[in-house]
Amino acid sequence: MTANPEIDSILQRAADGGRITPEEALLIYTEAPFHALAEAADTVRRRRYPDGIVTYLIDRNINYTNVCVTACKFCAFFRAPKHREGWAHPREEILHRCGEAVDLGATQVMLQGGHHPDFGVEYYEELFSSVKQAYPQLAIHSIGPSEILHMAKVSGVSIEDAVVRIKAAGLDSIAGAGAEMLPERPRKAIAPLKESGARWLEVMAVAHRHGLSSTATMMMGTGETHAERIEHIRMIREVQDLAVANGYRDDAVETGHEVGGFRAFIPWTYQPENNHLKGRTQATTMEYLRFLAMSRLFFDNVAHLQASWLTTGKDVGQLSLHLGVDDLGSIMLEENVISSAGARHRSNLHELIWMIRTADRTPAQRDTLYRHLAVHHTPADDPTDERVVSHFSSIAMPGGGAGRAQLPLVDAK
Ligand code: SF4
Repeated sequence: MTANPEIDSILQRAADGGRITPEEALLIYTEAPFHALAEAADTVRRRRYPDGIVTYLIDRNINYTNVCVTACKFCAFFRAPKHREGWAHPREEILHRCGEAVDLGATQVMLQGGHHPDFGVEYYEELFSSVKQAYPQLAIHSIGPSEILHMAKVSGVSIEDAVVRIKAAGLDSIAGAGAEMLPERPRKAIAPLKESGARWLEVMAVAHRHGLSSTATMMMGTGETHAERIEHIRMIREVQDLAVANGYRDDAVETGHEVGGFRAFIPWTYQPENNHLKGRTQATTMEYLRFLAMSRLFFDNVAHLQASWLTTGKDVGQLSLHLGVDDLGSIMLEENVISSAGARHRSNLHELIWMIRTADRTPAQRDTLYRHLAVHHTPADDPTDERVVSHFSSIAMPGGGAGRAQLPLVDAK
């Protein structure tokens, strides 16, 4: 109970699974006592996941090119066309990296890249089909609506055609990348050449309709207001309502899981290094934690909430498990985009499992669709592969770290 009956009533309704309005979300985000907000969010997590399981994933983010025509102000990863530091990996390099990931137990690859002026739908069809052919066991959870819009434009086809073709070529799931801030004012301020938030959601809705589920993300801390943060998640919830109302399901599973449309919401904090977005306020740790908890209460129609230990740090990642979070995401065998902008946190399999267990949760490895692959009930069940560690920023190397004989990254120690 708090001293404010209105806040009490909102928290109680949300904890019981009722829907809250954007105005109510703003009120509890900004004014609810922290412990009460956290407790309500954790109640939702316990009801959704009474087994106390918190999941993690082994995957690798592989960037096929850093060449991009969109020049988002917050992005430290891209290089303009013809820039001497621009690169595009040949197919063999990408397949080599996929092979390394498989060897380390990865179940997913996230292929991500800039908006290369020459890469149309055909490029992605060839990319996905060659990865699928070589490594059918890898789920391709890749690209985002921005890349889909870009490839459709380059090839002169509709969004729908692009989605159908890349799905047929092997794409299993669309990443929530490129959402950043969906409302118009903050989006234009940080990414003036990018598609609008409405277009981002339109592509997601088309994909959901075609049996491709996805995740949704949000980048906090580039000068947006609290109300704009709430507007961002309102826009996502509305599109998810459509997926639920139409009974969209992911084509890949028949598990009865709540997997149609957006499977998860993943907020993360803006990283300020090496980009053109000077002087922006960054989200504080408390803002991030409060937003996580409020999101768990707001998204009555999205199954999973993921913490971003990569941007906020492992302590905050562990703390988030008490704020409604049920997934710590990936160990990330490779990550270049966010680490280029300053994220320096790394982890390994043992540490991630330890973070989950010492938060009084049961760790489990999951796949892309959140199915449990291994539940580590006791330390005796823990995997022992010490090679599974996260690495960052090979793009600091000429050519994006291409042509190396093994995982071309920094030493895990
Ligand atoms: S965020 Fe994506 S679209 Fe924007 S500049 Fe970077 S690579 Fe290009």
